[in-house]
Amino acid sequence: MKNILKRLVVAGLTAVMVLSLAACGSSSSGSSSKKSSAKSAVAAIKKSGTLTMCTNAEFAPFEYKDGNDIKGIDVEISQAVADDLGVKLKISDIAFDSLIPSLQAGKADMAAAGMTVTEDRKKNVDFSDTYFDASQAIIVPKDSAIKTRTDLNDKIVGVQTGTTGDTYCTNQDGSSDIKVKEVRRYNKGMDAVADLISGRIEAVVIDNYPAQKLVDQNSDKITLLSDSLTSESYAIACPKGSDLTDEINKVLKDLKDSGELQKIMDKYISVD
Ligand code: GLN
Repeated sequence: MKNILKRLVVAGLTAVMVLSLAACGSSSSGSSSKKSSAKSAVAAIKKSGTLTMCTNAEFAPFEYKDGNDIKGIDVEISQAVADDLGVKLKISDIAFDSLIPSLQAGKADMAAAGMTVTEDRKKNVDFSDTYFDASQAIIVPKDSAIKTRTDLNDKIVGVQTGTTGDTYCTNQDGSSDIKVKEVRRYNKGMDAVADLISGRIEAVVIDNYPAQKLVDQNSDKITLLSDSLTSESYAIACPKGSDLTDEINKVLKDLKDSGELQKIMDKYISVD
């Protein structure tokens, strides 16, 4: 039964991947045509011999700690970019809401962190083509009275700081249809889940695949609702004007055309 479920998940993911990549042409926010006289980031990376990727390794299956290593789908994609450039990959593990400031400060070449493309973020960074479609999911205790998205109204909800889940629940611009009572912010989804289990908050809103992983680890206590809150796409962020964006798009296309991207997905989705 578990195997059948896994297979269904992988099949669904495959469909999502294919759709995401099929949409690449139109979803690209790369800046190749807008490029000014900025210095070549790619040339600088080749010269230094190191590609620095920043991430927040609290977001399995996209990035997570395994002993001293950081693994996941985004790490593999970043490694493929480093390999294509013939340089070493260096990973900087920082808070999610520090990723864009880190790019702006020139501390990293790219951020690969299951990062959703948003209009607001586009003001500060350039995004590669999208490589994954996602949504905000709702985790609740098994015995919760919260059964659908609208039940979140007037509840205390935990989110990861600075994420699209935070933006949705905080609803500063009033565009969300749900009005929660209070938003509690955490640096790790796992900490939010710990507070959910101990009854300090009533729900957690987080991206659907990490949500599934978190629920799998605590399946006797918490569950994932079938309702979702948003429709989002992940891409890799680069500093504005960086020519690395085009290089990443080339590698993403190669990975897709060769079937390698699918293999990476299968590896992280089928492993417990
Ligand atoms: N996709 C969400 C966002 O971009 C969350 C990403 C994350 O927590 N790593 O805001």
